[in-house]
Amino acid sequence: MIDSPHPHSGHDTLHRRGLMFILSSPSGAGKTTIARKLLEAEPELGLSVSATTRPIRPGEQDGRDYHFIDQAQFDQMVEAGEFFEWAHVFGHCYGTPKGHIRAGLKTGRDFLFDIDWQGTQQLHQKAESDVVRVFILPPSLDELRRRLEGRGTDSSEVISARMARAQAEISHWDAYDYVVVNDDVETCFGKVRQILAAERMRRKRQTGLIDFVRELTRS
Ligand code: ADP
Ligand code: 5GP
Repeated sequence: MIDSPHPHSGHDTLHRRGLMFILSSPSGAGKTTIARKLLEAEPELGLSVSATTRPIRPGEQDGRDYHFIDQAQFDQMVEAGEFFEWAHVFGHCYGTPKGHIRAGLKTGRDFLFDIDWQGTQQLHQKAESDVVRVFILPPSLDELRRRLEGRGTDSSEVISARMARAQAEISHWDAYDYVVVNDDVETCFGKVRQILAAERMRRKRQTGLIDFVRELTRS
């Protein structure tokens, strides 16, 4: 099984190293929607819960969607080196706590990161071989605005700010390994799931292969 320290323990899956699966998109394009579906469908995938200083939105839960903390707590965590990366987004601070991620990767656990391009760049610099970067695009700017309005979580000023920022965010598309247009949710989700499945099978992640192949070729 995935967690087994043995290269092959009678199951089909060889021991492998986990991966850091990053989903980014301009705000409103649907990355949270896709992320939730992935987490439901993929039990071996855990969410990296970021810390943020922004206020909690209706429907969000502290500890599930984010760790909602104040600026002083955030600064303290930065000082103590507790973040893999952190950034200012829309006037608030967001950061990825190191927590259990490093240990989990060794045992074959995968982590989903819902972070922007700045965080993606930093994570990629720190852990290039573990990182898979997926960028989600809206089918059009008109549709992006409709989704932001339809979500009903932000004031019209916040929506305008997000729209103003969308083109700048989209301009980072070429810093990602995969780019998927979120036209139809199910189609987009299917594509993202295929990316995850293929990336899990990369030779470099299958740390059990060396011993397994050695066994196969022993004569
Ligand atoms: P993000 O996390 O990128 O800010 P969300 O996942 O919150 O975006 O999606 C924004 C809004 O658009 C939500 O109301 C969501 O239900 C809706 N939405 C997401 N994907 C689609 C899609 N493919 N078609 C129509 N609406 C969508
Ligand atoms: P929201 O406030 O809509 O949840 O998120 C705003 C933006 O912050 C999104 O683009 C999201 O990807 C980004 N974000 C969330 N968590 C983190 C994080 O830990 N680090 C970075 N760099 N960005 C984050």
